[in-house]
Amino acid sequence: MDQPSDTNATPDLRGMSRDALADFISRLGQKPFRARQIFAWLHRRGARSFDEMTDLSLELRQRLAATARLSAMDVDEVQISSDGTRKFRFRTVDDHFVEAVFMPETDRRTLCVSTQIGCPMGCAFCRTARLGLTRNLTAGEILAQIYEVNRAVAAIDESDKRALTNLVFMGMGEPFLNFDNLTNALALLQDDAGLNFSRRHITVSTSGIVPMIDRFGAETDNKLAISLNASTDAQRDALMPVNRRYPLADLVAACRRFPLRQGRRITFEYVLLDGLNDTLDDARRVIALLRGIEAKVNLIPYNESPDLPFRSVPMERAEAFRDHLLRAGLVAVIRKNRGRDILAACGQLAAQGIARDQATN
Ligand code: SAH
Ligand code: SF4
Repeated sequence: MDQPSDTNATPDLRGMSRDALADFISRLGQKPFRARQIFAWLHRRGARSFDEMTDLSLELRQRLAATARLSAMDVDEVQISSDGTRKFRFRTVDDHFVEAVFMPETDRRTLCVSTQIGCPMGCAFCRTARLGLTRNLTAGEILAQIYEVNRAVAAIDESDKRALTNLVFMGMGEPFLNFDNLTNALALLQDDAGLNFSRRHITVSTSGIVPMIDRFGAETDNKLAISLNASTDAQRDALMPVNRRYPLADLVAACRRFPLRQGRRITFEYVLLDGLNDTLDDARRVIALLRGIEAKVNLIPYNESPDLPFRSVPMERAEAFRDHLLRAGLVAVIRKNRGRDILAACGQLAAQGIARDQATN
């Protein structure tokens, strides 16, 4: 896999744990409090450059710039939906595009974060799948999306400068194929010397990579979402190639053994596709599959795209499906579709390939 920024010999300070940063700074002959200052610049204030770190001496800033780097992602474009959703397009240092979607509500401000440039999973209904995988994002690039949106929101929205309250890792890519960078980024987000983000306000969604579900349960304390999307193996094999490797029985077994804190649930996303997975028999099979799991089902109306053959279901059918789940005692909601008009809704993130190529087209 092509991973230019991971193999770059210059260390990226933004992706370093607090201990690794302290180590790096002490090797430069600096006192430990310098590392704490730099950590706060990186993770509390989202500094973009060493120049911004004005309480460090000019000499130290120059030394840092010569020996280290700060992974950065520039905001390339922001599109604003009629419902207030904002789609941020970032440009990576190697000139690729990545998207993140900001969804303000009265009681929370959520960012849908990307973990890869493109996605290799090949789900038949998803536009991101069409891109294939270019590379994993580094931990620093994952964090940069969050820090840049916090900055941008404070700058654009004079009336409401509140920072992000919730994160969902449901943007471009399969988070569990970039597990180490993902979990490093989560630890940095939750560090009390950084944003001190609340663990229960962070949800990671996977298409169902079973061994990684176990690792996620063992190594983090964040919330899990599973893209279920089907009620039989035959349906799921056709929609999501991952199912051939990790079929439904293995997937729900991993969910059954997932360590859930008191009061938490696993979210199951289920995209309703006309004529494919939307009958009451499907609902009954979903109920059977999820028996014994503290589950919440998010029914997602399909976001159509002209180049894909799938169709959305009428609202009455979505409601009948939901009501069936509710009557069986499951928690189920029909997810509001946000940002459809700017192609920012689920499965619509497909910022095209390489920035440089686009500019010359
Ligand atoms: N790759 C991860 C996370 C990002 S996908 C995963 O698959 O879980 C986020 C969600 O969008 C998934 O649940 C997926 O099933 C759903 N999705 C993909 N394409 C969609 C579309 N066109 N309309 C509605 N939901 C879609
Ligand atoms: Fe990748 Fe998720 Fe889209 Fe599947 S649904 S292709 S895993 S982004």
